[in-house]
Amino acid sequence: MMNIILSKCTGCGICKKVCPPGVIAIIAKKAVLTDYKSCLECGACELNCEFEAIEVTKGTGCFVAIIKEDILKITPKGTGCGCSEGCC
Ligand code: SF4
Ligand code: SF4
Repeated sequence: MMNIILSKCTGCGICKKVCPPGVIAIIAKKAVLTDYKSCLECGACELNCEFEAIEVTKGTGCFVAIIKEDILKITPKGTGCGCSEGCC
């Protein structure tokens, strides 16, 4: 589950830029999750929000990371999630 703490959000738009499925919009200078079902719960928005305005409870996670790590057995670079889809 992804939760936006509106009182902390400055509307900077970084979360929108890094979200792989593009389900964050900036409306009235606040981040808004536009499509709850399409959120991957990957955590990229939380990781890149310098105002700590997003909390993500990890769910399914990043599909690309799952495929690379669990199926292809490719070790991630470990530099962290600067998505959109820079992996990783
Ligand atoms: S990165 Fe954080 S502060 Fe910036 S718009 Fe997104 S939630 Fe708001
Ligand atoms: S958790 Fe990932 S998919 Fe969901 S809103 Fe944040 S960046 Fe987008």
